Amino acid sequence: MKKTVLLTVAVLALLSCNKIVTPEETEVKKPKNIILMIGDGTGLSQISAAQYFGKTPSNYTRFPITGLINTSSESDLITDSAAGATAFASGIRTYNGAIGVDVDTTKVQNMVELVSQKGMQTGLIATSSITHATPACFFAHSKSRDFHEEIAAQLPTSEINFFAGAGLQYFNKREDGKNLLDDFSENGFSIDTLKLEAMPNAKKAGYLLADKSMPKAMEGRGNFLKDASLLAVQRLSQNEKGFFMMVEGSQIDWGGHDNDAPYLISELLDFDSTIGAILDFAEKNGETLVVVTADHETGGFTLASDGDDYNSIQPTFSTHGHSATMVPVFAYGPGAEIFSGIYKNSEIFHKIKTLLQE
Ligand SMILES: [Zn+2]
Repeated sequence: MKKTVLLTVAVLALLSCNKIVTPEETEVKKPKNIILMIGDGTGLSQISAAQYFGKTPSNYTRFPITGLINTSSESDLITDSAAGATAFASGIRTYNGAIGVDVDTTKVQNMVELVSQKGMQTGLIATSSITHATPACFFAHSKSRDFHEEIAAQLPTSEINFFAGAGLQYFNKREDGKNLLDDFSENGFSIDTLKLEAMPNAKKAGYLLADKSMPKAMEGRGNFLKDASLLAVQRLSQNEKGFFMMVEGSQIDWGGHDNDAPYLISELLDFDSTIGAILDFAEKNGETLVVVTADHETGGFTLASDGDDYNSIQPTFSTHGHSATMVPVFAYGPGAEIFSGIYKNSEIFHKIKTLLQE
């Protein structure tokens, strides 16, 4: 008996002064701010295009941590953007078309609802309508992605503090005759429908800068995505308890659906330059986790050789729809290391959740 006690004491003493730390026990740093960037329809070939068709080095190459996700939904091997975004926003797999609801159409809590309870501020930016599938999953719950008016009606009373995108018609030219711009002001929002300009005195800020979608990058959108992201960061980073923000490069996917390589590549390069601006902020800030991924690949896009000429790339497509290919995940900042490996799309939510500060 005495021997056992002595041995235990000896072992404990040894452990306390010579503790072997396994990777599982290593304390993962927790970020104050989290920025999730979704390049809709962005697979590995799309990302590689930035290296071959960009004029400057791709910002994707700046990430120290990479992973891969399987993007299937609960209903289909090949996901759509609604089920894909619900996986990221709420941590569950659901049916294609679902906005923040599970397979039984029951509402599931999203990341914005979760982090706002912790005092974090929240932002959403997209080059589509703000009611489009990807951004919608971060503030709305709907049986179908097609119910734009129903989705729009949930934005004024949501926990969102900043948003920028298009979709004005779903707020002020509605079939039900309501003007939701009034609902915004009742809920502390200042809305700008003309230009992206700071509103320092606004309690909450929203920008609805086009009726349906923002213009294509090729057709004069300018630096909207980058400028809106930086405006959001400037506002939200003033919050003592940090912020969560989702930035979507929405139209990379549309270039894929159209099998239009110049459209796709110009949208990808626009997203890439936004990633650069966000990484510049994160590097200076030091307390921000940046995670970049995609909901799925679109177009079965590949950078094939132009015939037998191995020094010439002929971007090609194999479908007008989405594909089931795994898509990459890139992470930078406190907690980034847990995003390496191969896992399901819904794990993105759970990984972010484990990094939320108490
Ligand atoms: Zn799509």
